[in-house]
Amino acid sequence: MSNSDKFILSLDQGTTSSRAIVFNHRGQIVTSAQKPFEQFFPKPGWVEHDPNEIWSTQAGVAAEAIAKAGLNGRNIAAIGITNQRETTIVWDRKTGQPIYNAIVWQDRRTSKFCDDLKAKGYAETIRSKTGLVIDAYFSATKINWILENIPDARQKAENGELCFGTVDSWLTWKFTMGKIHITDVTNASRTMLFNIHSLEWDRELLQIFDIPENMLPEVKSCSEIYSETATTLFATKIPISGIAGDQHAALFGQLCTQPGMAKNTYGTGCFMVMNTGEKPVESKNNLLTTIAWKIGNTTNYALEGSVFVAGAAIQWLRDGINLISSSADSESLANQVKDNGGVYFVPALTGLGAPHWDQYARGTILGLTRGTTSAHITRAALESIAFQSFDVLKAMESDAGKPTLELRVDGGAVTNNLLMQFQADVCNCKVVRPQVLETTALGAAYLAGLAVGYWKNLDDLKNNWSVDRTFIPEMRKFEVDNYLKIWHKAVERSRNWIDE
Ligand code: ADP
Repeated sequence: MSNSDKFILSLDQGTTSSRAIVFNHRGQIVTSAQKPFEQFFPKPGWVEHDPNEIWSTQAGVAAEAIAKAGLNGRNIAAIGITNQRETTIVWDRKTGQPIYNAIVWQDRRTSKFCDDLKAKGYAETIRSKTGLVIDAYFSATKINWILENIPDARQKAENGELCFGTVDSWLTWKFTMGKIHITDVTNASRTMLFNIHSLEWDRELLQIFDIPENMLPEVKSCSEIYSETATTLFATKIPISGIAGDQHAALFGQLCTQPGMAKNTYGTGCFMVMNTGEKPVESKNNLLTTIAWKIGNTTNYALEGSVFVAGAAIQWLRDGINLISSSADSESLANQVKDNGGVYFVPALTGLGAPHWDQYARGTILGLTRGTTSAHITRAALESIAFQSFDVLKAMESDAGKPTLELRVDGGAVTNNLLMQFQADVCNCKVVRPQVLETTALGAAYLAGLAVGYWKNLDDLKNNWSVDRTFIPEMRKFEVDNYLKIWHKAVERSRNWIDE
């Protein structure tokens, strides 16, 4: 079969749904399938998934996407996997059954444990080894919780009877019927147990979190043949040959392969990641240092910063105060006024993320007058997404020591042209929206395809890159400066609002 008869199957295992996309050799979407699964909230602040449902929905959409395209397993050159990061699964090595639900990255049950670690002075050790700040978000404290709270778990773990994995490990285990217990460097880098410099599980960290090393997966690169599928799901065995956590896969799918290239994903929140090249850059501005990917023997590093509330501010206008009837309406409403009329909205609805990190901040709308209309407030909400992204980008540029020339964008809110133009204006850099917005799935497909020779090299991939629209900065500098001055004043007003 030639490349025109062959395709890559990309599995995008997200927080609320499992998706599968079949890509062709041009990097275009042929078919896709998606299935949501149940979210469990057993107590305030707890979030769980059923690992067996993660598997069944993922397996189901994989088969569906292939069938929809009129293909079978023999047409699939390779499978790539990308996934919600940090989510923690522990299963029995012999039976393959999870011993507890998956503890999701959003779950806060181990916050107190994290506070204790900070009080004991571990922050610097952990930051220097893992690039992360101590937080319940990452896997390590979640594994510890399972070992401490599930009957017999600790004993079984000491005996080598349990496996830990992030969602990629779980899916590769299931697709190969337990033949391999692996993860990739990007997912490993989010566990808070992995030394991002030596690329090994770190003994000292394992001791701090009291986790036996024998339950950890073997760490692989992001692009190599790990194994072939063994399930009867497909007509034939298919190589699994690409893995990366969702944000890392998106950076690759956007082909931000040179140091200084950055992507921003505009969804519920914003996730910005910048490639910093082959050396990790330690952040002086409260960003995370992480592994972008490892291909062959080359490891690329990245800086990462997240904004908690971005598209969610637009959701709030829609569902919380009924100002608009759909998210897309925000653009036409905001366009009814020529500017924000002095209104600034800091959407710190759940506190502020990078680079401010203030969990006690709350949302504020400032500058209201008798002339303020719903259009001004909507415009201010859209502008707040761009301002928050600006703050993260500036922190990255300061850490990386050079300005960004171009920001590549994806996610649900990038169809909003007003937002994209304003982003280009405030950042004073080009904002580039690609044609294929499924960059996360595309990145995993590229990693898998490279490993089996479906695509030969990066140049091959670059030929697939096509731009939908480029937004060029147009605003005059004094205007931008004025916007930013008032925005930062507004941020100060939102900070430290609630008492603990
Ligand atoms: P997630 O993956 O985080 O669920 P998506 O990438 O699907 O998010 O993006 C959905 C988010 O984008 C929602 O918060 C929605 O309010 C916002 N959004 C969608 N379309 C628009 C638009 N045209 N303008 C502004 N925001 C939008």
